[in-house]
Amino acid sequence: MTEPSIFTRILSGDIPGEIVLETETVFAIRDINPQAPLHMLVIPKTEQFRDVTELAAGDPQLLAEMVAVAKRIADEHANGEYRLIFNNGPSAAQSVFHVHAHVLGNLEENKLVG
Ligand code: 5GP
Repeated sequence: MTEPSIFTRILSGDIPGEIVLETETVFAIRDINPQAPLHMLVIPKTEQFRDVTELAAGDPQLLAEMVAVAKRIADEHANGEYRLIFNNGPSAAQSVFHVHAHVLGNLEENKLVG
């Protein structure tokens, strides 16, 4: 059996991490290494999908729920505007193979390039 992902371990309380928002299928945490004034991760509770390509093919409704949660975070913590990033594969900077969306906001103080 494979080890639970770092995100599953946070969700289960096995390792520390404040869950800032939770729905039936999705939860959100602050990124431990923020790249913008607002940087949260939106994560499905299931870890069956390793990246957004698998998720979109396997459960598009869950992907839509992730986007809806990202928007709720932006409404609450930014001005309703946000940047949504999925890294797909090690050479594209993916390090955790439990699909997650990076939600970045309030970028005017900290413009990201690319
Ligand atoms: P990836 O590189 O896979 O797209 O994103 C993984 C993200 O998870 C990184 O931005 C990294 O900072 C974040 N991360 C890794 N370990 C932890 C942790 O234990 N707690 C939190 N809150 N974020 C983490």
